[in-house]
Amino acid sequence: MQLTAITRRQQQLSLPWGVLYPLGRLSAKPPSLAEGDLPFAGANRYVLSFDSSLLSRSETKLDRLSVQAMDGNQQAEAQSPSLLDTRICDLGLSIEGSAVEELVKRLYRELEQKKIMKFRPPCYLTDEWGCPSGEPIIGIPFYLARPDLAQIEGEHNDLEDSRETMMYLRHEAGHAFNYAYKLHRTPEWKQLFGSYRRPYRDNYRPVLFSKDYVRYLPGWYAQKHPDEDFAETFAVWITPRSGWRKRYRGWGAMAKLEYMDRIARQLGNSDPLRKRGTPDITVAEMEMTVAEFYRHCGEQAPLPEDNLDSDLASIFRSAKSKRSSEPAEAFLRRHRKNLVDQIAIWTAMQRPRVKRLMEAIEKRSAEMGLAVDRRKESEQLSEFTVFATTLVMNHLARSKSFQA
Ligand SMILES: [Zn+2]
Repeated sequence: MQLTAITRRQQQLSLPWGVLYPLGRLSAKPPSLAEGDLPFAGANRYVLSFDSSLLSRSETKLDRLSVQAMDGNQQAEAQSPSLLDTRICDLGLSIEGSAVEELVKRLYRELEQKKIMKFRPPCYLTDEWGCPSGEPIIGIPFYLARPDLAQIEGEHNDLEDSRETMMYLRHEAGHAFNYAYKLHRTPEWKQLFGSYRRPYRDNYRPVLFSKDYVRYLPGWYAQKHPDEDFAETFAVWITPRSGWRKRYRGWGAMAKLEYMDRIARQLGNSDPLRKRGTPDITVAEMEMTVAEFYRHCGEQAPLPEDNLDSDLASIFRSAKSKRSSEPAEAFLRRHRKNLVDQIAIWTAMQRPRVKRLMEAIEKRSAEMGLAVDRRKESEQLSEFTVFATTLVMNHLARSKSFQA
């Protein structure tokens, strides 16, 4: 059995289904233009193997985390019990009138600026970012529709700002554009990006620093699948002032960007072959309560089995030493978020697993009575960072699913 990520969607398959929620006004025609700038949050998580074809077009965000979710649950439950006990379908959520509506409008304006005139992918609220396979329609996490939900999400997972929300919107618009014009069926698309039918796996093995792919979402995401490669290429291309011609000059990825630029000019005034998409899970179908939604991210990511005692002892000092200051546990916890973020971004190990590793090391450091040398804080931080990154890379290299 191989490890692959699973999204909340699969857990919800066992829930009762409702009738598909009709799309709001956003689906009908290009809206007027407006600016928006509000903080949002996003997420994903992890368990054992699943038929990945079913979840192929929902994003495996690298920042969703089970352990975080459980910690956050307790915080959230203490804060707003009535909202947490409400079923998501009863919250009356809609994009219209929410802060995220402004960002959708911004996406539409960016399309217009790129002279894409006939394509305005409809958006709907669902459990996470995604574009149902083959459907030119964008799923936006429901918690972006209300500030209090966004706050709860932020307590469970890392908070995304509007810049990151725009990044997801552009990426999903790339999938939608691909499906709307059925580009993936063309020989040129296949030749540039690979086979759309390639099996989708979350434990993809990226070639780090490869110049054959653009870099946009963290984790070398374009390398996950040909469809992601296209979505990422689209996102880079459409981002205002991305300077892609300069940044990617001499890269293998440039051929993809040039294709994108050319195909967009060709299709700019053409109606999509597939005009409307069908959403998968809508908020109207999400019958779990907000608390249940977060409780459902409870699976634990596997931990490395290595005994790290001697390595940790060589990096830090004994708390009994005269030169020791802060306990290593507190020191590492203070730097945890940045360490986890950076390691997950550069190694492409899923964030939940990196975080679990850090938590285990913090705990062990406390048990061993380790402390930071007050005169060598920055050296110890950099040594630890290299050590932890190497651990993760070593773990990835040994992982069978990663090598497959
Ligand atoms: Zn994607």
